[in-house]
Amino acid sequence: MSTASDLGSIRESVKQLCESYGEDYWLELDRTRGFPTAFVKELTDSGFLTVLIPEEYGGAGLGVMEASVVMEQVCRSGAHAGACHAQMYVMGSVLRHGSEAQKQYYLPKIAAGELRLQSFGVTEPTTGTDTTSLKTFARRDGDDYVVNGQKVWISRIEHSDLMVLLARTTPKEQTKKKTEGLSAFIVDLGTAVNNGLTIKPIESMINHHSCELFFDDLRIPAENLLGKEGEGFKVILDGMNAERILIAAECVGDGRYFVDKASKYASEREVFGRPIGMNQGVQFPIARCYADIEAAWLMVEKAAKMFDEGLACGAEANMAKMLASEASWRAGDVCMQTFGGFAFAKEYHIERKFRETRLYQIAPISTNLILSFVAEHVLKMPRSF
Ligand SMILES: Cc1cc2nc3c(=O)[nH]c(=O)nc-3n(C[C@H](O)[C@H](O)[C@H](O)COP(=O)(O)OP(=O)(O)OC[C@H]3O[C@@H](n4cnc5c(N)ncnc54)[C@H](O)[C@@H]3O)c2cc1C
Repeated sequence: MSTASDLGSIRESVKQLCESYGEDYWLELDRTRGFPTAFVKELTDSGFLTVLIPEEYGGAGLGVMEASVVMEQVCRSGAHAGACHAQMYVMGSVLRHGSEAQKQYYLPKIAAGELRLQSFGVTEPTTGTDTTSLKTFARRDGDDYVVNGQKVWISRIEHSDLMVLLARTTPKEQTKKKTEGLSAFIVDLGTAVNNGLTIKPIESMINHHSCELFFDDLRIPAENLLGKEGEGFKVILDGMNAERILIAAECVGDGRYFVDKASKYASEREVFGRPIGMNQGVQFPIARCYADIEAAWLMVEKAAKMFDEGLACGAEANMAKMLASEASWRAGDVCMQTFGGFAFAKEYHIERKFRETRLYQIAPISTNLILSFVAEHVLKMPRSF
């Protein structure tokens, strides 16, 4: 576990790296729907994006606490972390559930930036959050699985070499538990695209590179099965806590970005002959957002430490994501209000971050689903669905 000073130096190094990619860089990408290839490469080459890969496979071998500091600082610097965060955590499925051969093959290449595993395919248009009802089916045929079905909102796939895919291998009706009969696969996108897999980009509110996927007899070699057949739900679920904690850290970064901007602007902008921040109606909402963000960070730290100690942290990871995403959204709203009309000018960058941080109350899991998890699993109230 890193000391506070180690975390401070990670933060400082990431801050310096991000300074070369100022807010105009992100604004231009947002305008052109471009991908931050140079930024992702530098973050990978400098080892920050591969902190979670163990040293024996070429990574830094650090924990989710250190990874959280990286993502928090990326977002606080004004960047849009959505383009890169998955490279950090999707590989966890390979690390925790892959065979030794899969680990030896994929992880060093991911650590070296030779292979990008930035994409995971779970969500489907007709079943949404009800993951175990997903319909994409992988049928065993000799040494292959043959996949048919559809996915939606699959991000970064056009900028990834690999995708972790969740599909049914046994119909839900034939399983004892609905979480059984799902399997996870590593899909080599280089051979799959236009060879059974068709990708269609979705025009969306933020520059997140999300796509619809259509599977039409896509053949995946059976050796690309991740974990055991029928146990793919666990493969995906295991990675989710790390994902939730890192997204929460990003939201804290966004929140701190908004508070930094709002407090500075409120101290400088003069209306009626004095800084607008002299008015308590302007300064109190900013101070409240600061308090909310710092409280959310404590939950991120708690969840990250528990994760790194190998403790069950589903409740903490989910609560951190919920609290941080709500706090960052409120901070974005207050920042917009503080900037008044200028908040709408793209050159002030706030509206872009405001749009980006809104995602995290919906994805990777929506607030209602977190509340239902806490109600049922922590508070032992009746199951609602
Ligand atoms: C920009 C973006 C990027 C994404 N990237 C990926 C990706 O890379 N890979 C991937 O697999 N997915 C991805 N997703 C999908 C994302 O995880 C889902 O959108 C999210 O989990 C919500 O699912 P849904 O959109 O189907 O909503 P639905 O399941 O249709 O839910 C809609 C609303 O109803 C509420 N609701 C549903 N059921 C209940 C209930 N029982 N009780 C109370 N409320 C309920 C939900 O809380 C939600 O607010 C992405 C989504 C977006 C928008």
